[in-house]
Amino acid sequence: MRDCAVSAQTGPLHILCRSRSQFWDGEPGVFMGVIMTPDTFLPFTCPTFFHHHQHSHHLQQQLDIEPDRPIGYGAFGVVWSVTDPRDGKRVALKKMPNVFQNLVSCKRVFRELKMLCFFKHDNVLSALDILQPPHIDYFEEIYVVTELMQSDLHKIIVSPQPLSSDHVKVFLYQILRGLKYLHSAGILHRDIKPGNLLVNSNCVLKICDFGLARVEELDESRHMTQEVVTQYYRAPEILMGSRHYYNAIDIWSVGCIFAELLGRRILFQAQSPIQQLDLITDLLGTPSLEAMRTACEGAKAHIMRGPHKQPSLPVLYTLSSQATHEAVHLLCRMLVFDPSKRISAKDALAHPYLDEGRLRYHTCMCKCCYTTSSGRIYTSDFEPVTNPKFDDGFEKNLTSVRQVKEIIHQFILEQQKGNRVPLCINPQSAAFKSFISSTVAQPSEMPPSPLVWE
Ligand SMILES: [Zn+2]
Repeated sequence: MRDCAVSAQTGPLHILCRSRSQFWDGEPGVFMGVIMTPDTFLPFTCPTFFHHHQHSHHLQQQLDIEPDRPIGYGAFGVVWSVTDPRDGKRVALKKMPNVFQNLVSCKRVFRELKMLCFFKHDNVLSALDILQPPHIDYFEEIYVVTELMQSDLHKIIVSPQPLSSDHVKVFLYQILRGLKYLHSAGILHRDIKPGNLLVNSNCVLKICDFGLARVEELDESRHMTQEVVTQYYRAPEILMGSRHYYNAIDIWSVGCIFAELLGRRILFQAQSPIQQLDLITDLLGTPSLEAMRTACEGAKAHIMRGPHKQPSLPVLYTLSSQATHEAVHLLCRMLVFDPSKRISAKDALAHPYLDEGRLRYHTCMCKCCYTTSSGRIYTSDFEPVTNPKFDDGFEKNLTSVRQVKEIIHQFILEQQKGNRVPLCINPQSAAFKSFISSTVAQPSEMPPSPLVWE
């Protein structure tokens, strides 16, 4: 099963199969806005866990843990790789810091936590466990355990490794499969980018980082924040200041990533939101007034002032030799200026370009089908949705930091009602201080908001 990777016919994806010692790529990286070199982390011992008695703070048995280091970060929070002392399996540990600074951050973290516990889909990262919180008086941080993935699409795209069209197809299939599930739950991810698409050595892909995700707002009169989506992957309606947007913003991002997988470079790599919009209209041509109907007046004026542009979509064929007619056809259905005319995840999955990706995924990568002596037994539903939707009604009743803190504390304790021994962090361990003070992005360090047009 493990060796039956998508790459069986096309050669392994070496970048995904490197030894763990090369995990951190050996290159300086930007870690939460701070330039760090690998030496900053090595040698580093991750926090040691204790078995923890659920209803006392009596620490019992210490378990050894091998050295480790941070592996990445999300919009809000640091991710480390650690070993679960209960079964020796390597897992990812995400620290959600500064949770209780204000009501807005409390609500955001609680929403993300609820989502991580809600998700049950192989292409969406979910919570395997939440570490035991200390007594509520000392409860400041939340630690979530998730599956550990070796790489992400950003690292793969910028690596020198060849990506076959089989890779592109099976990656795109899984992105859309996960997104169909999220959208069926009524959730907009709002920050789909290659770095948020985790990939393991078998080429299984999972969408992660729900720090900016939220439930879709059906009431058009209600304004939604524009502080979403890394600029290169930002949909034109957001660049043009729309006050209301739909899950089509995620599909735009997927279109940009699809093109990036084919061309191995960022499709719209602009220096500013205005240039971002200009690059988009260079490709798609000047949008009609109808396509811009939700845009703010200042953004429309910018388009109208500029030269009238003709679409230049045929350049998509020059992305790579893998940009076949089918590939470009699907890509053009995602990169549609008018969000109401952009293809949905469900419809994109029905596109013939993805037939091979589906077959590969369900032949040897998925967990929903299985092989018997008489052959492969396929699931009845290749791309499942969720029912009921994710319910964010709980947010309405959150009114104070102290109250939310108590609710989250209780929520975590309730998640523990399983048969596994609960885990907590050992504050006595050598690495705890470094771990606890890991630099994290503050909202003020987030990508700048789109241009204020008016
Ligand atoms: Zn399957």
